[in-house]
Amino acid sequence: MPALPGAVPLLFVESVAGRRGADLRACGAPQPRAAALVGEELCREEIAGFPELSEPQVLRHFLRLSQLNFAQALQFYPLGSCTMKYNPVVNDQMAALPGFAALHPLTPAHLAQGALELMARLEGALAEITGMDAVSLHPAAGAQGELTGLLVARAYHRKQGRMRSKVIVPDSAHGTNPASCSLAGFSMTVAKSNRRGFLEAREIARLLDDDVAALMVTNPNTLGVFEPEIVEIAALLHERGALLYLDGANMNALLGVAKPGDLGADIVQLNLHKTFSTPHGGGGPGAGPIAVKAPLDPFLPVPRLKRTEAGWMLDSKRPDSIGRLRSFYGNFAMLVRGYCYIRALGTDGLALASRLAILNANYLRKRLEDLYPSATAEPSMHECVLTHDLEKRAGVSTFEVAKRLLDFGFHPPTIYFPLIVHGALMVEPTETESKETLDAFVDAMRRIHAEALTTPELLKEAPHTLPFSRIDEVEAARHPILRWRPEGEPQR
Ligand SMILES: *Cc1c(COP(=O)(O)O)cnc(C)c1O
Repeated sequence: MPALPGAVPLLFVESVAGRRGADLRACGAPQPRAAALVGEELCREEIAGFPELSEPQVLRHFLRLSQLNFAQALQFYPLGSCTMKYNPVVNDQMAALPGFAALHPLTPAHLAQGALELMARLEGALAEITGMDAVSLHPAAGAQGELTGLLVARAYHRKQGRMRSKVIVPDSAHGTNPASCSLAGFSMTVAKSNRRGFLEAREIARLLDDDVAALMVTNPNTLGVFEPEIVEIAALLHERGALLYLDGANMNALLGVAKPGDLGADIVQLNLHKTFSTPHGGGGPGAGPIAVKAPLDPFLPVPRLKRTEAGWMLDSKRPDSIGRLRSFYGNFAMLVRGYCYIRALGTDGLALASRLAILNANYLRKRLEDLYPSATAEPSMHECVLTHDLEKRAGVSTFEVAKRLLDFGFHPPTIYFPLIVHGALMVEPTETESKETLDAFVDAMRRIHAEALTTPELLKEAPHTLPFSRIDEVEAARHPILRWRPEGEPQR
């Protein structure tokens, strides 16, 4: 395979026959036989094309690869709706303590009391933060938390002898909301936001009937606007026996400010990898606990933590439970990190984090408003959605503005979302960024605006400073090449 310009060469390409890393045979160290470890049937004498490399080659290869990514640990990453805040290193250290990291998921409860106690405390803290009665740490991500919550809602209605088939979702919703509705077997009814960017109780009243199982809404919504009529909306839903599902992925605006439970929510999922500073998995482990009001507790997934005289145990004998959605009980190392974060900040620290997140978003909005006006006149919470007129004035798209930001060392904001805002730039700075970083971002955005008007061709081919400029993202997602084949062999 020819190396792409700027790319790190594949290990297979760098391979030299007979080259080795450390070889302990010369000093007589015992050689474990592979067959004894994994069984004869899994062993091969030869692996065709296996790369042969020295130790420094391997180290350089992986270190170079790791630096090709934009990362929150390296750059400002104001990706709206994703809450890319700093992941404190102490959380990783706690999760790596041997007592946690080496614990096998099948360890009997009486030998894992510390881990179970930590989970129980985390459940308690999340219940307190959300104003809800019961928490399950089981779901592996926000989207799986949504699915879990909707399955719980369905099981609850069935138990009451109701077969409700519809879920109302606003037109500003995150894409996972309609997807979760379909997966859970509901059909979706779209509620329109008003021109100020929020949901009116009137609109919900218009759509409500006895077939509605729930309204699914995020608050603050995807415009970064706090839903001002949410309490009234919750009351309307409850009058008709429907539930309020609050998508809690935007909780970073609400810690110590408002509790979903007090706003009338019956179900809320939390994204530990957003609000509670655990790393975003890049497809790897996340955690999307759900919290519910007491009447929904029996339907939560198993296993559930249970306190007995002998200590904590995991209880799977819950006849009304929706069952399991994944293996074991959750992504435990993420739970350790989230718990560590909550304990490190404490009640006052969490409230300050949300206040600073709101302050940072409004600071950016204010400093950019003459060139990139906000999509809404309402005050912003933890993120702001900006617009521009560069398409009309200079033929420059939002996509090109975003690509040019990479040349200034910034990860672009979320673009073209929410769908109800034409050419949106959704900026979420989070609380962990300094004023200097925010000012540098403002400078870059202002400079890009000027470039668009004077040298638009500069934006057309940006980024100019990275190993790759434009990638066919659709092709890469639809037909990823994950396996190397020697020259001449067809790619499958
Ligand atoms: C991120 C997000 C989700 C989905 O969470 P994942 O953990 O990525 O599955 C759902 N809703 C909103 C509003 C979000 O921002």
